[in-house]
Amino acid sequence: MIAEPSGDWNVFQQIFVEHWDGFKRVYPRYDQRYYDGLVDKMLGCGNPEKMGYSAYRCLHCGQGKHRVSMSCTSSLCLRCAKVYVDTWVSQVSKMLHEGVIYRHIVLTVPAMLRTTFYHNAHVLLSAFMRCGVRCLDDFFSRVSGKPLKGGSIVVIQTHGRNGQDNPHLHIIATSGGWDQQAKQWVHLDYLPYAMLRKKWQWHLLTMLRQTLKNKEINRLVDACYTRYRQGFVTNVHQGDVPARYQSLARYLAKYVVSPPISLRRIDRYDGQRVTYHYRSHKSERVERETVEVYTFIGRMIQHVLPKGFKRVRYYGVQATKTFEKIKGLIREALAKVKGLVKGAIKIIAPMTSRQRYQQSTGRDPLRCPHCQHEMGVWRIWHPIYGVIHDELEAVRRGKYASQAPRADPPGRLGRTLWPASGGVSLSLFGLR
Ligand SMILES: [Zn+2]
Ligand SMILES: [Zn+2]
Repeated sequence: MIAEPSGDWNVFQQIFVEHWDGFKRVYPRYDQRYYDGLVDKMLGCGNPEKMGYSAYRCLHCGQGKHRVSMSCTSSLCLRCAKVYVDTWVSQVSKMLHEGVIYRHIVLTVPAMLRTTFYHNAHVLLSAFMRCGVRCLDDFFSRVSGKPLKGGSIVVIQTHGRNGQDNPHLHIIATSGGWDQQAKQWVHLDYLPYAMLRKKWQWHLLTMLRQTLKNKEINRLVDACYTRYRQGFVTNVHQGDVPARYQSLARYLAKYVVSPPISLRRIDRYDGQRVTYHYRSHKSERVERETVEVYTFIGRMIQHVLPKGFKRVRYYGVQATKTFEKIKGLIREALAKVKGLVKGAIKIIAPMTSRQRYQQSTGRDPLRCPHCQHEMGVWRIWHPIYGVIHDELEAVRRGKYASQAPRADPPGRLGRTLWPASGGVSLSLFGLR
C-alpha cells in the first residue's frame, strides 16, 4: 500500500513528537500502550526502514528498481486516511443491493448528553449503534403498517467537522424492506420526519437509562424530554441517494470516514498553538480555529475508537449472512417492479497501491523505465518478521529449476532465471 505523498504531513507528526508525552501526563486516560502504539506507528509511517517495505526489481534487465513503504494503518494517521477510505468504499459498496433505494439518515445526540457519552464511551458506543437500528425498524414498521425486514449499514462518528466531540450515527438504510409474508420488496416513498425525531428521542433516552442505570442519567433524561419537545435532530438527506450519486459508498465516505482534521487544514503551528480550518455544515462556510496544542491532540485522539471496535456494522438484510440469502430474492422482486430500479449501484473494486501511485504520479511504478518490462517483487522486509521474501534466495534454492533443464549450459541461466512478466504478487495485509 502506498500512502499519500507527504507535504504538510510532518507538521502533524511534529506536534506529536513534541507534545505526546506532555499530553499523557495531563490526560492519564490516554497513557496506555494501545495509544502509544498508534502514535508510534503514525510517526514511523512512510519510512521504509521503520515500517517495512517491498522492493521491486525488473526481472528482465535487472536495472529497474522501485521500493514501496508499507503503510502504518494507524487510525490516527492522516497520511493513511486515503488508503483507508478506498478500502472502506469498496467494502461497503459490495454490501449494497443493486436496484434498492437507500436513504442516508443521520441520528444525532443533543449537546446536553455529549459529556455523558464521552465518559461512558466503552459501554455506550455499541449500544448506541444497535439503538439506531432498533429505532429505524420501529419507524419503518410503523410507517408501512406491516413487519418489514429492512437493512442498514451503520457508521459511528464521534466527532464533528471541527474535531470536537459530537457523537452521531450515519445510517444508510433501505427505504423500505422485505415483506416475508408477501415475498415482496416494499419501497417507502414518504417518510414522516417528525415521527422519526420523536422515535429517535425515545429510543436513545431509553437506551441511556437502561445502560447507565444511575440517578444522574435519570435526571438528564427527564431534562431532555422537557427541553426537546420536538424530539432529537435527525437528518434524512433528500433524494434517492444512489440515483444522484455514482456510488453511494463513495458519497458516504465523504461524511463518515474522513479523519477529524484533515492534513491540509492545519494552517499554522508555533510550538504551542495550532491553527486549522474546516468547512462548517452549519454555516456552510470555512471556519478557522486556533487552539492550544493539547486541545488539538485531544481532539485527534479522543476519536480513536476502543481497540477492536468495529466502526461500520451491518444489520437486517445488510447483515452478511442474510445478504447472500436474500440478494437473489430482492433482485427478482425488483425486476418485476419497473421504475424502482434506477441508479443501480456501481460496485467499485479497491484500487491497488499501484493504481493509486499511477493516478497520483501518472507513471506506472512497476514498469521498468529501462526496458519497459514489468517489474517483479524482489524483496519484502518487515520490521518484526524480517525478510519475508527474497527472490535471489529463492533463485538460489532452485525456484526456477524446473524451467531450466539441467542439461542447459550455465551461460543460459540469464534467460531462465527470471520469471515471466507479471511478477509475484504477495499480500501484505495479514502482517500488521
Ligand atoms: Zn528492465
Ligand atoms: Zn500511516
